[in-house]
Amino acid sequence: MILQGVVIAVFLITLFRLRTFVGLSLLYIALGVFQFLQTQLALSIYVEVFPSILISPGSAVLFTANLFAVLLVYIREDAVETRKLCYGILAANLMTSLLSYLFSLTMRSEITLNLFNLPIALYQENARVMVVGVLVLALDVLLIIVSYETVSILVKKSLFLRIMISMVFVLSLDTVLFVSGSFLGNPDYLSILRSGIIGKAAMALIYSLLLTLYLRLFERRQLSSTEINPKIRDVFNILTFRQKYRILEEQIKRDPLTQVFNRGFFNSILPREVSLTRRLDVSLSLIMVDIDHFKRVNDRYGHRTGDVVLQEMAQFLTSSIRNSDFLCRYGGEEFAIILPNTDENAALVLAEKVHRNLNEIPLAAKILGKEDRITITMGIATVPFEAQSAEELITLADKRMYTGKNSGRNRIVSYKEMQSL
Ligand code: GH3
Ligand code: MG
Ligand code: MG
Repeated sequence: MILQGVVIAVFLITLFRLRTFVGLSLLYIALGVFQFLQTQLALSIYVEVFPSILISPGSAVLFTANLFAVLLVYIREDAVETRKLCYGILAANLMTSLLSYLFSLTMRSEITLNLFNLPIALYQENARVMVVGVLVLALDVLLIIVSYETVSILVKKSLFLRIMISMVFVLSLDTVLFVSGSFLGNPDYLSILRSGIIGKAAMALIYSLLLTLYLRLFERRQLSSTEINPKIRDVFNILTFRQKYRILEEQIKRDPLTQVFNRGFFNSILPREVSLTRRLDVSLSLIMVDIDHFKRVNDRYGHRTGDVVLQEMAQFLTSSIRNSDFLCRYGGEEFAIILPNTDENAALVLAEKVHRNLNEIPLAAKILGKEDRITITMGIATVPFEAQSAEELITLADKRMYTGKNSGRNRIVSYKEMQSL
């Protein structure tokens, strides 16, 4: 049976690998054929590997191969392909039982010659077993994906363990449900259950090993650095579609230079935070931060140094705010800080702290000359104290920031109007 498992795994992997030439249909058709073999074998052949441990090649080898294929497609392709495969397996499984039953009717006829004396029972599966089988299979193909995603959160390092744990979990649950649904009340119930779990767990071990080997050795397609962040390039190869999606979803909110939230994220989060603030009857403040005479930094030291200053500024602002605040790059050298649950006075206290610390921590100290200390001008506005909507809030904070610029820069303008610092 180990040999059978290896042959089947290699066969499925080969068909999967041919996908670049002929698509995935070969793999899908093969799994459809498996449904027939699997049903017939499960009804007829058992191997006594240890005394009273009877293992069915149909269940242990062929059934487990379904989950192997689902995981393979899920990890290397995407959710849409996996869904097609799952529907295909279910349809083939159901049709196998229905067609077998249909043709078994011919066997009953008096004018039929049954050349090999095939028993009708081989084709007329017990209706209860059939219904339970299809339902449990539907649950399995969904559960294997959910388990893999869940186990992946807990087990970060070992791909083998992730696959193995998910397979053993789903197969054990499958055996408990299937055997209970089909054989509860049967005197051999417990021994069927034990044999089922042992057989499938042993095959899961082999399939997991082969799947891991294959993914590690043959599917390490190098993704170009434009596709993903180089830091995650290594793990990217073994991430599923959903995991990749989560990483990209996170990246898409960020500004590539400074890694703080970008303008797009700012535009979508501010109205949401403002309406939440109004519903909860609390306050939210916005601080617009603009670096003074930033053009001079670029002109004197070059754009690369300008970029470093922006990165350092982003780091400095991040370290000055709480985790629940949002620091966004609003424009070239402008940042916007959204402060949920913060009233006009608390926002002013924070701005003053930022201003003080900025004077103490020289930005880009090694590159900039002494006369070029970085200063900033800030405008603060608060909901619902003086603005009622996100637009009003931005307009007011922006207006105050420009008032600060026109009055000499390096200052904070809040509801108290101007504060020279
Ligand atoms: P002010 O005090 O009035 O704000 O003067 P300023 O020079 O800071 O403002 P201005 O709007 O005239 O110029 C902003 C400069 O920021 C111009 C632009 O080249 C620079 N800048 C914008 N984005 C980037 C960036 O990503 N990297 C670098 N190095 N510079 C940038
Ligand atoms: Mg500026
Ligand atoms: Mg500006």
